Amino acid sequence: MASLYLNRLNPEQRQQLIQQLHEAQHGHCFICEQDVDLVVHKDEIDIDHVVPLKVGGKDDPSNFALTHASCNRSKQASNLEVARVLQRFARLKEQLAEENRAPNLGDLLKREGGGNQALGFKLEGDEVVYSFSALGDNTLYRVPNYKDELSGFRYFFAKVPIEYLAHDARINPRAIGANISKLVEEFHQGRPQLHVPLAWIASTEGKSAIHIFDGQHKAAAQILLGVKRLPVRVFIDPDPETLITANTNAGTTLKQVAFDKSVQRHLGSTLYWDRIDRFQKETSRQEEDLSFSERDLVSYYKGQSREIKRYILDSVRDWVTSHPDNRLRDFIDFGGRGKERPLSYSTIDKTFYSFFIYQEVLETPINWRFEEGENARELEKSQILALMNLIADEIYVGKFDPEVGTDKIESRLQKGEDFAFPHLRAFRMSKEEILYNWLRYVQQIAKMYFISTGKPIVEEKLFQYHFPEQLWENIRHFVRNLAALPFWVNRDLSATAFGGKQVNNYWQTVFESGKTPQGVQVLAQPLNLIELIK
Ligand SMILES: [Zn+2]
Repeated sequence: MASLYLNRLNPEQRQQLIQQLHEAQHGHCFICEQDVDLVVHKDEIDIDHVVPLKVGGKDDPSNFALTHASCNRSKQASNLEVARVLQRFARLKEQLAEENRAPNLGDLLKREGGGNQALGFKLEGDEVVYSFSALGDNTLYRVPNYKDELSGFRYFFAKVPIEYLAHDARINPRAIGANISKLVEEFHQGRPQLHVPLAWIASTEGKSAIHIFDGQHKAAAQILLGVKRLPVRVFIDPDPETLITANTNAGTTLKQVAFDKSVQRHLGSTLYWDRIDRFQKETSRQEEDLSFSERDLVSYYKGQSREIKRYILDSVRDWVTSHPDNRLRDFIDFGGRGKERPLSYSTIDKTFYSFFIYQEVLETPINWRFEEGENARELEKSQILALMNLIADEIYVGKFDPEVGTDKIESRLQKGEDFAFPHLRAFRMSKEEILYNWLRYVQQIAKMYFISTGKPIVEEKLFQYHFPEQLWENIRHFVRNLAALPFWVNRDLSATAFGGKQVNNYWQTVFESGKTPQGVQVLAQPLNLIELIK
């Protein structure tokens, strides 16, 4: 904002002010905290109000800060202290983007030195006694030990140094979302929010970190603003399954929080293993005893058959998605809003996972023919992963360039911009309605193979049958030959076939007839799967 004070300064006075601010800020930009070089950055330096004038900031040196001009232009809040905090968060986000993930409370705590201490405490009558000895505070704090009226869990309230706080990524696998910036602003203005996150502590080990599982965003906003002690409601030895279910329902049934689909899948998978665990205990089985079926689980947890079924399928999806050898993963956008990666998680869910995962529960024991490598679910998982890797190698790795990304590619093409062919092809083959069709041909090719060898199969369980080498060869040829068709890189089609979002049937018509429903010629001839697998 314009400053009368600054306008009145002559060049020498202004230079003097810049020198003073530069010294006071130890040579750092107020927003990005990187070096400001008064020579190198000479004409790219701003003086701005820390607190904007329109909200009562003073127009004098006590309220001035020195910034890079570019930082000031691109700041995310008009208050410079808030802008600086958000810039710190943006940097953390950038660092983690390389791992294809966004920061959670744990990352933030780690950056601030939190999460590395376990609290020593004991339960004494109706009180909880603890101290922060690791920080040199040996005071014995005594607080009431309450009982939650509805869940029956015991809990206490405490104001806890961040050193003792940890993030529970198992119960709450979400990342911190974009709405954090609004929360930071509200907290910064001193407007009270629900400051108190929910956490749990285990009494069995004698010492335990305090694991926050709910209220991550508000905790993060406070920590970003420099708060070093957080008020926390700490449950003592709660049932983890109840907490996971509560958190899953917050995203699904209650829709209180926006959950990414992949996060839901992950939670479902965690719940599946918890249910197996419980089933084993309650039926007096050993931990390694998996001689019961998915059907047995569904029958055992009466009244929850839909949930259990979902957890079973979620565990398959989550295994494939998060497998460390999954090479397609780098090309999947898990938030679904980015412009760097060509595939959204939702597309993966609606194609790979809905086509290739058997959607019903199995009657065979979970460990059935496991040793022989013929276990149905294991085969299904590993063959879906193998298919993803085959496709990643043929179409994406070293071909799709995340730096170029996906933003407005078709309209940029129409304006004459050029893209490397492999990049353009990968982008186009990834569109959901297109992938939907050609992945179904992979399904068809596998069926054709089994028919030609005379092997009887149940179509819905396709990926639960072992794929011989020859079938993998067929699939690889299909993907390679399909990708080699010239229409993928035909720029004239950006206004027609590839322009805008189409329905699945549109591309079915193209692949079956060579033409769009409007009669635009796309392929020289209809696809022929026999030709394509050669
Ligand atoms: Zn800067």
